[in-house]
Amino acid sequence: MAKALYPGSFDPVTFGHIDIIKRAADIFDELTVAVLNNKSKKPLFSVDERVSMLKEVCKDIPNVHVTSYSGLLAEYAEESGTDVIIRGLRAITDFEYELQMAQTNHKLSPSVDTVFLTTSLEYAYLSSSTVREVAAYGGDIHHFVPEAVAKKVYEKAGEKYNGNQ
Ligand code: ADP
Repeated sequence: MAKALYPGSFDPVTFGHIDIIKRAADIFDELTVAVLNNKSKKPLFSVDERVSMLKEVCKDIPNVHVTSYSGLLAEYAEESGTDVIIRGLRAITDFEYELQMAQTNHKLSPSVDTVFLTTSLEYAYLSSSTVREVAAYGGDIHHFVPEAVAKKVYEKAGEKYNGNQ
């Protein structure tokens, strides 16, 4: 039984992430989507908010489980019995960083491999940072994220505008 782990910031989850989640869930027996609790980044959403949005969008995929982790990905992957780390590749610009990370993780935890899924063309341009930026200027993000997520992004963007954050 192959266990896969899809780590990321998911700030917020986009249709691009969901595409990778669905395709990885079709390939592997179990898929854990893990939100990185990275104190050095200043995210729009808290880890709990990101986990809760991911749970909502993944609720109909039976072999997907959502959680969070902090610290070294390689260590977390090994401790959680992961066989394969999943990453999405959008463009050549992702490649160098992703290759370096995959090789580092493999060195740290030789039992864990990284598998790359290439983005579906329709989502190749999409990133969480684009979604945050478009929303901050009041643009339409419904092409990028599910309705429930869009609502939360606009609420946050509004809070930010009003100086509540
Ligand atoms: P990170 O900050 O760890 O890169 P992200 O949430 O931005 O976290 O991305 C998590 C993973 O999802 C990465 O492997 C990234 O390449 C992939 N990804 C991000 N956006 C897309 C997209 N539009 N299509 C497919 N994969 C994507």
